[in-house]
Amino acid sequence: MRIILLGPPGSGKGTQAEFIKKKLGISHISTGDMFRKAIEEGTELGRKAKEYLDSGQLVPDEITVGIVRERLNESDCERGFLLDGFPRTVTQAEALDEILKEKGVELDAVININVSREELIKRLTGRRICRNCGATYHIIFNPPAVENTCDKCGGELYQRKDDTEETIINRLEVYKKQTEPLIQYYENRGILKNIDGGQSIDEVTREIGISLGRDW
Ligand SMILES: [Zn+2]
Repeated sequence: MRIILLGPPGSGKGTQAEFIKKKLGISHISTGDMFRKAIEEGTELGRKAKEYLDSGQLVPDEITVGIVRERLNESDCERGFLLDGFPRTVTQAEALDEILKEKGVELDAVININVSREELIKRLTGRRICRNCGATYHIIFNPPAVENTCDKCGGELYQRKDDTEETIINRLEVYKKQTEPLIQYYENRGILKNIDGGQSIDEVTREIGISLGRDW
């Protein structure tokens, strides 16, 4: 199966991606991993991408699309793939359509995990990280035994700057603005699967399965 996974920060997208990948035996292709690999291997596109990243600039679409094309042409993608973090814009979605057309394959589904803004803020502001070992906690969903203290190493827990309410609201706004046209694009194509991400992890997993015609 060839799937795109969409969901805002805090939607549990990463956890679901792991599960889908294992269940379907397909490759999980995240933009971050893809860039890292192209740079490590020193491909021409990887070197170009690195120049932009090193200077703190956004990598232009043509380079990103080129890296995606290279990745999708690798043999492990013949069994299918789960794209995560790409496409981000309608222009990128159109480029992806071109790549798939070249390969003579089609997308099966675009899974969109929806979570209310209030719930996302609750999830994201509750995150705490150990200063010493990097273990992650959540003050509501996964609290440490002793407040502000790491269960594993006794280190002090802190809140990342990115996890304060103001920054989170900003990140969610950016996400919404960016992905709304993309969601519309796939809705028009009739392959969008809206999933209620406000449920438990297991329930979300199950609903994704049903949307793909799998009972897992
Ligand atoms: Zn620790």
